[in-house]
Amino acid sequence: MAGRVAIVTGGTRGIGAAISRMLKDKGYKVAATYAGNDEAAQKFKAETGINVYKFDVGDFAACQAAVGQIEKEMGPVDVLVNNAGITRDSTMRRLTRDMWDAVIDTNLGSCFNMSKAVWDGMNTRGFGRIVNIGSINGQGGQYGQVNYAAAKSGIHGFTKALAQEGASKGITVNAIAPGYTETDMVAAVPANVLEKIVAKIPVGRLGKADEIGRGVMFLIADDAGFITGSTLSINGGQHMY
Ligand code: NDP
Repeated sequence: MAGRVAIVTGGTRGIGAAISRMLKDKGYKVAATYAGNDEAAQKFKAETGINVYKFDVGDFAACQAAVGQIEKEMGPVDVLVNNAGITRDSTMRRLTRDMWDAVIDTNLGSCFNMSKAVWDGMNTRGFGRIVNIGSINGQGGQYGQVNYAAAKSGIHGFTKALAQEGASKGITVNAIAPGYTETDMVAAVPANVLEKIVAKIPVGRLGKADEIGRGVMFLIADDAGFITGSTLSINGGQHMY
């Protein structure tokens, strides 16, 4: 509903930027967060007029402080999209504890950190929408992504459990599992590997960030209150359950 406040983590680039723009177009008041790429964030802010906030979503205290600041400046948060994510790919033999921790903290710990910061308010007001961005590789696993697949798979469990707690309070919690989507994250995949990936996508191409955003808009709508604890796969038919 127009006027509601929405936070999109990692909302200044890629899929998150598409989500932020779509929310703004629908009249939401949007706070887009990011980690450190000031240039991209300032460009995004200049283009869209959307407020940007820089903090590490893996840092619990930073998340509580940032949500406090956003609520002070924009009002109580009705919609949270936990989208920020990173990859630190490596096979198990070369995977370090640091690479494991970085991905678990940023991709999964962030869902706890940010949801915790908005949860009491959503409960008190009797309305909330949380969407967590998982991954096709959390559903099916992926060679060289033990850390990423574990974090993303964790997101799907987190979603189902939290959905049960929010159900009687007007809060829905859902996940989206995107397939390979045209963003900087995928641009980092070597061309020969990407070619093999696209060959396995029945639709025959990568997804577009807006195509993931479309799913978010569906799940956060005021009249989507009966959809909770679900995972929406948007992957060009690459992985079907
Ligand atoms: P991008 O790499 O294009 O953008 C990532 C965004 O997250 C940036 O805004 C970045 O900020 C922010 N971010 C990263 N780490 C942190 C952090 N520690 N604290 C705060 N913000 C952070 O990613 P995508 O758009 O490709 O991916 C978005 C989500 O979708 C991720 O969760 C990803 O795992 C998931 N996904 C992506 C797929 C794809 O094919 N692209 C497929 C399946 C899932 P900054 O600009 O400052 O770096």
